[in-house]
Amino acid sequence: MTTRALPAVRLTLAVQLLLAAAVLAQPAPPAPATPRYTAVRAGRLIDPATGTVTTDQIILIKDRKFEAIGPKVAIPSGAEVIDLSGLTVLPGLVDAHNHLAITYKVVPERNNYYVTVISDSTPLRAIQAASNGIQMLAAGFTIVRDMGNNGLYADTALRQAIEEGWIPGPQIINAGIIIGSAGGQFWPTPEMGIEKKVTYPEYLEADTPDELVKAVRQNMLYGAKVIKICADCKPWGYSVDDIKLVVAEAAKAGLKVEAHAQTVDGARRAIEGGVWSIAHDLGLDDANHKLMVKKGTFRAGTETPLSLTDHQTEAGFKRDVASLKNAYENKVNMTYSTDADYWVPGKTRGEVAIEFIETWKAAGIPPRDILKAMTTTGYRCAQTENTRGPIKPGLAADLIAVPGNPLEKIDALRDVQFVMKDGVVFKQKGVLTPGPFFHGGPEYGLVR
Ligand SMILES: [Zn+2]
Repeated sequence: MTTRALPAVRLTLAVQLLLAAAVLAQPAPPAPATPRYTAVRAGRLIDPATGTVTTDQIILIKDRKFEAIGPKVAIPSGAEVIDLSGLTVLPGLVDAHNHLAITYKVVPERNNYYVTVISDSTPLRAIQAASNGIQMLAAGFTIVRDMGNNGLYADTALRQAIEEGWIPGPQIINAGIIIGSAGGQFWPTPEMGIEKKVTYPEYLEADTPDELVKAVRQNMLYGAKVIKICADCKPWGYSVDDIKLVVAEAAKAGLKVEAHAQTVDGARRAIEGGVWSIAHDLGLDDANHKLMVKKGTFRAGTETPLSLTDHQTEAGFKRDVASLKNAYENKVNMTYSTDADYWVPGKTRGEVAIEFIETWKAAGIPPRDILKAMTTTGYRCAQTENTRGPIKPGLAADLIAVPGNPLEKIDALRDVQFVMKDGVVFKQKGVLTPGPFFHGGPEYGLVR
């Protein structure tokens, strides 16, 4: 296309006319809509914070939020009534550590995500993320902390798409690009690392204090809601002072920091540096668990069950169970976290994530405390406890329902029959009903 320069004065006039036309074209503000009421009749209602059950409750929802909960709540005329009197209703679940925009596979990558990041483009991974998010929501996960390895901010795109109302999915707390010293979790050849810069965008390389600050700012600019660093991906790792610097920089935008740590020393430095949460349990011995209790650090242990055979060994499972048990005995802030970023043929991402209850059961943790990790502690770690999670008036109307009672048998969570997100039914009688989540535009507004 060729262009022809307009005289400056005419261009200014043209711009003014266009602006005036744009203002005139603005639709009149919509008249206040009549509130939409939904009443859920809950046969049993679980409060995971106290581990208690109440029966025959009415949960009233006004538009996207809870309005009132109790046995005798008045149902406004015209309200839609949903009968879950035969089910147990509870708040949505949290996976405090997943990677929705990556799916590594046995074939052809032999489960090596180093290959996956080269073979799958960021746009393809964003589409995988949309699908994985839907699969997580179908399994009852209404909040997912998405902790990096998401290409060039596919996780931000996923969060925006869900928050704006394009697609259904869990609330996403996303980390952007994982910050690590050169190489990240990879050990590239000089040709690939220096010449081809293969580490990026899977990792944001930062080796000096200036680079650390810049990396945190890049993530915040491009939509991260939590910062993830790799404390010890290389033997030289980050010092306590490096980590304190990251924590302080993230705090300027109200963000918390999670540290990936797989050594005892790396985890200790991260805890002492003041991170919000530690990912993985390899570095979490008794002393570090005690230090976490002192500092209030959340634990995202990512304990893979033995049943996911391509992803766990007998020895690894034994170690994970022992670490979980020790964390429980020390009363650490334990979150349910999976790191389930691979394809298990025959299972959805949500079904893989729920499978992790097997490790918690093997550690002898009672169902009510497993559920607490999957809900109450998860909300606190995700910093949503005042906006989304608990079934309380004024909070986002998210809830799930199952036939059994997860306080007695946690496996009841394998059979999520009903899911509501933001006051809209996503799954009913075990069947997905996502239609109302799709809009022709950003129904809930533009977000960054
Ligand atoms: Zn991970």
